[in-house]
Amino acid sequence: MAVERRDFESNQAMRQVMGDYFVELTKGAENGKKTAWCTSVGPAELLLSMGYNVYFPENHGAMLGASRMATDLIPLANAQGYSPDICSYLTADIGSYLAKQSPFQKMKLPGPPKADVLVFNTNQCRDVKDWFQFYAREWDVPCIGIHSPRACGDLDLAMVDSVAKQIEQLIPTLEQVVGQKFDIDRLREVIKSSRRCTELWKQVLETAANVPSPISFFDETIQMGPAVVLRGQQSAIDYYELLLKELRQRVADGVAAVEGESFRIYWEGMPIWGKLKDLSTQFMQLKACVVASTYCNSWIFEALDPSDPFESMARAYSSIFICRSDDPKEAYIEEMVQKYKVNGILYHDAKTCPNNSNCRYQMPQRLQTRLGLPYMIVNGDLNDLRLYSDEQTRTNIEAFVEQLAEA
Ligand code: SF4
Repeated sequence: MAVERRDFESNQAMRQVMGDYFVELTKGAENGKKTAWCTSVGPAELLLSMGYNVYFPENHGAMLGASRMATDLIPLANAQGYSPDICSYLTADIGSYLAKQSPFQKMKLPGPPKADVLVFNTNQCRDVKDWFQFYAREWDVPCIGIHSPRACGDLDLAMVDSVAKQIEQLIPTLEQVVGQKFDIDRLREVIKSSRRCTELWKQVLETAANVPSPISFFDETIQMGPAVVLRGQQSAIDYYELLLKELRQRVADGVAAVEGESFRIYWEGMPIWGKLKDLSTQFMQLKACVVASTYCNSWIFEALDPSDPFESMARAYSSIFICRSDDPKEAYIEEMVQKYKVNGILYHDAKTCPNNSNCRYQMPQRLQTRLGLPYMIVNGDLNDLRLYSDEQTRTNIEAFVEQLAEA
């Protein structure tokens, strides 16, 4: 039976907001603006406050995956010495640069903007620093960043202090590149706006706690665009206010993202960008809704506080799921499972991203014992489709949903 994902009326507004962002980015130099590349949970608020165009290459990595360009481009980076085993955002992006091919061209834009400075945060992985250093060498521009604690339990003051100081220490180089002075009041304004974006994005995701859910993980991977690239900007706030209104109407009208929703699943790990449509269709056919995920929740930064800019940025960036140890990760998933009334957990073991694959150190078994919920593991990758089997995944998902039906 063919089933179609239910579109959001807000989608047109999102396309506009995202389109404007990409045009603005590529016109940066023309408009006399400097461009800073930033990792997904890097100090975007600081960069925006200093007048930079902020570009997130991981978003480009995801676009390369979703457009299925990645698999052909990755070997170009492999041939230059970047292993097929490392981050396939990195290898796809470098391959795209070498081949001069990008999804930007489908939008009639030349390609990603050249960086004037690259700013990383290793809170998610070491790969981002290696990735940015490639471009720093290519273009002879500064590559600066924050080295964050990883696999930590509770955040202590020493960790927060260290990260906060490192953020402050970025300022002299950023001032030099952009040619203007840092203004703390401007930073407070951007943090306030970023915080508002976070609150709205969280509310969007939380509508999925309703039964039936008005939104699925596959919708959210698209809807998260503004939260990823436009946090700190008014356009993201305006967009999520609109989307939230539509979602609340769906809830009031009992409109389900998955018609006849019978099963509710938690997705742990990265999306498989080139297979979003196929997977969404299969889950719809099985009347299973993926109602929550670690990934989409990773752009919630509730610690941000304009009255305490540096320390609150440090707290927000260092308390994300990916840089925590297994105990807080498991406590978090347990809370999500209860809040979203989840029947089973799907773990994506992404071959080239151990950092976002949480099924390698017995977590699924421990959580199954604790929560009594079935789980399954999908072996695949975020971008490299050579590491993914359609047939095997399809069969395993079918078997998993049968198991949920019997539970
Ligand atoms: S967290 Fe994973 S997907 Fe993201 S940049 Fe690092 S290795 Fe790549």
